[in-house]
Amino acid sequence: MSVPIRLDNLTVTYERHPAVHHVSGAFQPGSLTAIAGPNGAGKSTLLKAIIGELRPAEGSVDRGELTRNDFGYLPQAADIVRHFPISVADTIMLGAWKNSGAFGRFSRADAERARDALAAVGLAGFERRHIGSLSAGQFQRVLFARLLLQDARIILLDEPFTAIDQRTTRDLLDIVLRWHGDGRTVIAVLHDFDQVRGHFPETLLIARELVGWGRTEDVMNPDNLIKARAMAEHWDEDAGDCAPEREPAHRKLAKREPAE
Ligand code: ADP
Ligand code: MG
Repeated sequence: MSVPIRLDNLTVTYERHPAVHHVSGAFQPGSLTAIAGPNGAGKSTLLKAIIGELRPAEGSVDRGELTRNDFGYLPQAADIVRHFPISVADTIMLGAWKNSGAFGRFSRADAERARDALAAVGLAGFERRHIGSLSAGQFQRVLFARLLLQDARIILLDEPFTAIDQRTTRDLLDIVLRWHGDGRTVIAVLHDFDQVRGHFPETLLIARELVGWGRTEDVMNPDNLIKARAMAEHWDEDAGDCAPEREPAHRKLAKREPAE
């Protein structure tokens, strides 16, 4: 029933320029993993490849028996259009509808579940509010309510707490930890290293290539963090195509045994 999500030599490119390069390893079922790395390290690209929104240029993502509906995905805030004349209730129910593939109207049970989900994120009574009228923190709570409603086995969060107030961060982090307690697989791109060390047992540290992947205390050491920074500083944005026959820059530097 539960199998790992395996990345095998995964390379994802934009116009043949690699954003994720030769990444291998596995997310175990029920694991709680932080994805860390410098800006432009390929973290968002990696999430999009895991859910199948981007196709590998090389290598593969093996999702076992999982289908698109098993994945709940929270995009990075910058990728979400909020100037849309839509209510809070519709935002979360349309998300659930899209995922379930159900057609048309919402049942009374759907509306009830939506209300419960909003209450669970501290937004009871916000159903009819226009999403454009919400603060960043409130909007992020709405998106978490949508994830609650989706009830997915695998949950991917792209910088869920960036530009979010502390109180909201605490509340939403609690939900993340509850998902983990339920046995769901949770993968979150995070910038706050204290948060990663405090709450995330596994970390995948990436700078286009893998720097480390395994137990957080093993991966988030000063050497690896310096290495990730150094790799980012040496990126050549005009570097050539991803040519499989050529040994990529930093390959030896980056080589690490992925967690099993
Ligand atoms: P991160 O999330 O770690 O900041 P991204 O995955 O967003 O990194 O981006 C990795 C690299 O790919 C960056 O150099 C970025 O500029 C580039 N990139 C991301 N999205 C696109 C795109 N749609 N088209 C071209 N290049 C992109
Ligand atoms: Mg990103």
